[in-house]
Amino acid sequence: MPIKVKSKPDLSPKRIRKFVKPFLVPPGAKVRLPNDFDPASTGGYNREDGAGAQQILQAGITLLADYQARLAAQSTHGVLVILQAMDAAGKDGTIRHVMSGVNPQGVDVSGFKVPSADELAHDYLWRYQAKIPARGRIGIFNRSYYEEVLVVRVHPQLLETQKLPDGAAGQEGARDGIWQRRFREINNYERYLSDNGVRIVKLFLNLSREAQRERFVSRIDQPSKNWKFTASDVRERAFWDAYQAAFSDVLSNTSTKWAPWYVVPADNKWFSRLVAAAAIGNALLDIDPDYPTASSETKASLETARRELEAESRGGKRQGKTKNGKKKAGGR
Ligand code: ATP
Ligand code: MG
Repeated sequence: MPIKVKSKPDLSPKRIRKFVKPFLVPPGAKVRLPNDFDPASTGGYNREDGAGAQQILQAGITLLADYQARLAAQSTHGVLVILQAMDAAGKDGTIRHVMSGVNPQGVDVSGFKVPSADELAHDYLWRYQAKIPARGRIGIFNRSYYEEVLVVRVHPQLLETQKLPDGAAGQEGARDGIWQRRFREINNYERYLSDNGVRIVKLFLNLSREAQRERFVSRIDQPSKNWKFTASDVRERAFWDAYQAAFSDVLSNTSTKWAPWYVVPADNKWFSRLVAAAAIGNALLDIDPDYPTASSETKASLETARRELEAESRGGKRQGKTKNGKKKAGGR
């Protein structure tokens, strides 16, 4: 469903909502990857439309900047953007491009890697809770508590490091119990956050296996990209099908009205950035934050301040000039 590119792109809330809808996972829908969402989708655009998409992305970035300023001024809601993906799907580039117009003072990016001993000594949501954005701010999670039902599920031996009490780790033969319970806990946790003013946008950057292979090869071929590549990336790739199954289950169980998942086609970077910007824009349009209006007392005190400042300027003119009107040395 392409957004029409006219002289000025149509970024009305209705248009944006319509644009992102095909990428939204309806609550309760059963998702099976890789069949249900096409990683190569460009939403009806072809490559030649790239410039048009670029124009919309630029307009979207400006819209995000404007709404972020209002979000900060209103200071009622925080926005939490969660990014999950296979390696090389473009999480870092998405953050860089989509947030490029936003005041960096209003955004916090938190990355989550293998948990430390201190983190493992706490319940599994503890380290994420500490990074939830404050009111008025946008927080971006580069990986998140969803790793607790993704990498930990694909490598269940990681559960052993989590020091869970008997029963909480899932009984032998009934191990699936723990994942269903974690889905429930995550849904409840996100509901709690949303009830308390945190708007959650979850983006799964959906990369195809072949596109990942090509990106890995290019990271090896280009010396300037070598640093992005580790042998463990190839080891994880061997678990591709297990990850697809785990992601399918996450999308089927944790896309809710209060914290929906978007499946962002990630094989074409220009298009994935567009969808990511639109999904975040959609959340901000929903909140529709506004600059607070001053009360009558505040307005009165502003008027007093204005009179004082104006009087100072008149006085300043008299003090700052000699009799014949020339500026004194050091006068401004
Ligand atoms: P880059 O783009 O730099 O590769 P990255 O997010 O992949 O970024 P890495 O240091 O390569 O960063 O990988 C972080 C690793 O930490 C991932 O393999 C991820 O699965 C793992 N990880 C994240 N959260 C958890 C967790 N809760 N338990 C175990 N492993 C985790
Ligand atoms: Mg990595």
